[in-house]
Amino acid sequence: MGGLLHEDLASLSDLDEQSLLESLSQRFKQDRIYTYIGDILVAINPFKYLPFYEKEVSERYKCHEKTKLPPHIFAVADRAYQSMLGRLSTGPQNQCIVISGESGAGKTESTKLLLRQIMELCKANSQLEQQILQVNPLLEAFGNAQTVMNDNSSRFGKYIQLRFHNSSVKGAKINEYLLEKSRVVHQDEGERNFHIFYCMLAGISPDDKEMYGLLDPTQYRYLNGRYGSEDTVRTWGEKYRYLCNAMDMVGFEEQEKVDMMTILAGILSLGNIMFEPTETDALKVTEKSMGWLKATAGQFGVQEEELLRSLICTLSVTRGEAIRRLHNQQQAEDARDSIAKVAYGRVFGWIVSKVNELLAPNVDLDIELNEIGILDIFGFENFAVNRFEQLCINLANEQLQYFFNHHIFLMEQNEYKQEGIEWETIAFKDNKPILDLFLTKPIGILSLLDEQSAFPQASDRDFVDKLNSKFKSSPHYEVVRSHSPLFTVVHYAGKVQYNGGGFLEKNRDTIPASIRGLLINSVTPLLSVLFSATISRTGTLMPRKAKLMQMADDNFNSTRKQSVGAQFKHSLAVLMEKMFAASPHFVRCIKPNGSKLPDLVDNKMIMDQLRYNGLLETIRIRRDGFSWRPSFTEFAQRYNILLMKPNLPLTKESCMSILNTAEIHGWKSGSSRLFFKYWHQEELARQLERLG
Ligand code: ADP
Ligand code: MG
Repeated sequence: MGGLLHEDLASLSDLDEQSLLESLSQRFKQDRIYTYIGDILVAINPFKYLPFYEKEVSERYKCHEKTKLPPHIFAVADRAYQSMLGRLSTGPQNQCIVISGESGAGKTESTKLLLRQIMELCKANSQLEQQILQVNPLLEAFGNAQTVMNDNSSRFGKYIQLRFHNSSVKGAKINEYLLEKSRVVHQDEGERNFHIFYCMLAGISPDDKEMYGLLDPTQYRYLNGRYGSEDTVRTWGEKYRYLCNAMDMVGFEEQEKVDMMTILAGILSLGNIMFEPTETDALKVTEKSMGWLKATAGQFGVQEEELLRSLICTLSVTRGEAIRRLHNQQQAEDARDSIAKVAYGRVFGWIVSKVNELLAPNVDLDIELNEIGILDIFGFENFAVNRFEQLCINLANEQLQYFFNHHIFLMEQNEYKQEGIEWETIAFKDNKPILDLFLTKPIGILSLLDEQSAFPQASDRDFVDKLNSKFKSSPHYEVVRSHSPLFTVVHYAGKVQYNGGGFLEKNRDTIPASIRGLLINSVTPLLSVLFSATISRTGTLMPRKAKLMQMADDNFNSTRKQSVGAQFKHSLAVLMEKMFAASPHFVRCIKPNGSKLPDLVDNKMIMDQLRYNGLLETIRIRRDGFSWRPSFTEFAQRYNILLMKPNLPLTKESCMSILNTAEIHGWKSGSSRLFFKYWHQEELARQLERLG
């Protein structure tokens, strides 16, 4: 069964679901975790160390010929880099690498390997290169956490853009999407808070610990009173020192680091503040947590009384009159948690914008920069309870699947039609209608959510009722009969039932004016800056006049700020625009089993992933299709050297002569362009190289 070991599944002439699964798992059992489907890389997570990424392997994959070496993630890096330099194809010079897969499938590890290899390829400015590589551990410490699915799960999505001038890297920019802030105040069974808290507590020196006012880790409610075994704590401690080093290298200042740690310590103390009723209507802080109140105030650099006030009541100014509304116990706890979430979210956003500032290309404006973007975004999620966060994540995945379909199926097949190439259409699951269900204005899910969020009196139930009445006949929506505000969306990857509870609040995401006022007045410089700045749509911080922000007017918050849904929709649109203008490379990560174990294959689990990724259809189109389609002009311009005639007219006839001389077979000619198999490109590149 030689076919089972094929490195490129697009070269198999006869393939069904079962043999695809067998090929992949057979290869996996021999530690061949990478397989090509034409120009797409399939990567199965080995969950164990494999000697695949050493220096000499990295060297071997530089400027290599794809067919001469086994499939590898480094090959994708090489291809993107060579294409960016215009050495391979004639498509857009900007590149994007799209990595997809479910949680724990290996997306983030693949991203790191790609980044590392691309830095190897362009070795030029070694300080910048080191800085770029240090950014990842920094983001991971603040944005990753242990979950049931993955011990190092990214709780945010990111798009890393590497910017080049000719062959050398000049800078980088990171966009982050949807940090899961709620993790700061609550984690489900078997999960943890963000890594940074544990690392900080484990690695900090006793003096610093005292300075930041940190106590024993098991005391903190936001950490669930759980810590780790001696070994784990040692690892965390080492990670912390590594991290401090990374921050220095990237260029964070001492004071900024101190402020950041102080705010984190403040968040931990804040979580321990508890409330109880008094004889009057007002609440008070329990006797036992008085100390925590004092500690938090100190760490946040605010007055104790003011902090207390912002927790137990809401102050709003309407028509020049200050109105105070007392909180009940639940509201006070919500206020406490929302301060923690917003403070953490702002620190994270600040780190990203700081990194972007430090890594911005330091070049003249008129120098043209080319880009390689790497997208590492959460995979499709379907849990026991799915909330607003899952809805956004799954929407992003619909969008990515659409991008993939568009490139692999739509664009390609449309061109065959236009150019008069004989072709039997390959059907694929078009998910455009599902995207429309979310994004259409004025009656898509997100627009309806915004509409309801604008009514202060509306409830989550009202929102779901609205959805039910608008979409009850949509094939991608199902009404759920229940007392809870439930609804189901039929995604491309399967049905997901959402719980609409909390949707309106999460979508509004307003910080009460009194809390913002409190934190703006903090004597901790960083905290004050974080709250006197608004985060622009693109995620960068824009300082605003502090005075302006002190207006304790609720209207200010609600009218000025875009909803979370709208912001996300916008950032997705910006991302898509970038990606549609680039040459894409796809890496499909697959998780072999749900137990995070090496050498274990759960066939059903792999099959599910192959199905919803549409990999079988992909193999067919890659086998039968023509993925490289240059125009006659592009082609003649680039390959006229093969005829040794630099002044060749850029016509179809010239192309034919070139192809004759090069002895290339299996291509087709349309009315304005040529149609090649993905491997023709390498064949021609080889011939060019031979000419020098
Ligand atoms: P995702 O980002 O898709 O959720 P990760 O990239 O974080 O998943 O991978 C989860 C875990 O799987 C990693 O922490 C690592 O232990 C393991 N892993 C992933 N890719 C590899 C690889 N190429 N080699 C060895 N282990 C890997
Ligand atoms: Mg990840």
